[in-house]
Amino acid sequence: MSHAKAFAAPDKSSPLGPLTIERREPGAQDVEFDVLFCGVCHSDLHQVRSEWQGTVYPCVPGHEIVGRVTRVGSDVKTFKPGDLAAVGCMVDTTCGTCPSCAEGLEQFCEKHGTVFTYNSPDNHRPGQHTLGGYSTRMVINEHFCLHVSEKLDPAAVAPLLCAGITTYSPLRHWGAGPGKKVGIVGLGGLGHMGVKFAHAFGAHTVLFTQSEGKAADAKRLGADEVVISTNGAAMKKHVGTFDMILDTAAASHNLDIYTMLLKRDGALVLVGVPEEPHRSPNVGMLIMGRRAIAGSLIGGIKETQEMLDFCAEHGIVSEIETIPMSGINEAYERMVKSDVKYRFVIDMATLKD
Ligand SMILES: [Zn+2]
Ligand SMILES: [Zn+2]
Repeated sequence: MSHAKAFAAPDKSSPLGPLTIERREPGAQDVEFDVLFCGVCHSDLHQVRSEWQGTVYPCVPGHEIVGRVTRVGSDVKTFKPGDLAAVGCMVDTTCGTCPSCAEGLEQFCEKHGTVFTYNSPDNHRPGQHTLGGYSTRMVINEHFCLHVSEKLDPAAVAPLLCAGITTYSPLRHWGAGPGKKVGIVGLGGLGHMGVKFAHAFGAHTVLFTQSEGKAADAKRLGADEVVISTNGAAMKKHVGTFDMILDTAAASHNLDIYTMLLKRDGALVLVGVPEEPHRSPNVGMLIMGRRAIAGSLIGGIKETQEMLDFCAEHGIVSEIETIPMSGINEAYERMVKSDVKYRFVIDMATLKD
């Protein structure tokens, strides 16, 4: 065991503060790295405050992690000390053999074997739970470690590990590309990556937002058009024209205003989990035109690596605001008010001595 510094929530209503935690010695298949940067995801806030129930304390959040390798186990083949390494939402599995795991879709493990980066039972420390990237050091099975190009800014890479793959995977799955018209709902941490990827894939990219103020930024990030979703007349012009709409808005909202914009066989894909359920969709609108409402969850390890390689090739990173570890509680307050362009990233050097 070795000690690491971390920031943790002691319970659901207290601010995060410093905590010393233990990391295991790297086993034969493990990669140990110093955390350089960790992105701040909205799910960190939900879990810290136990808004999804079941949070185990102390809770060390963080699942958008980029680090520098310090030691590797004897069986590790693809990492060596000094390499960059990245970790997203998953760190281990107790399965690896079910049909989803066998296809590299570990996030959909049919035996519930996925070990998430924090707040999951830890197979290496019985009775304890995993502790995430708001910490100075991690030890992770090689299979769940991703390679990061030195060409990209490692701070701006961090959010790709959750916000990036959460938008990349469904855009790929539903075929966003040349000749396709793709909508992105919301220009937050997820949405701004959705705009970048849809544009990079060659799709005609349309951003839906409630705020006029985001139009210029959306176009700078790659949107071909911006539509104010509260403007009925503007929405009506797009009825029946979209191949796919990726909806990143988490708050409960009316889905019909988007399904009516889909072509026959088009899909509205949800990646935000609402605290209050969405109103039941207009089923007639789905039947007429064989339209679909679907969901998507992050991406498998193989696809996450593919996404990082694509980003290196095309120079794609997240738009970030770097904060010191001590600024996390204030960052959470600003995140609740959507006062961030477009992702906070913690500089973990600020947690060292
Ligand atoms: Zn996340
Ligand atoms: Zn499985």
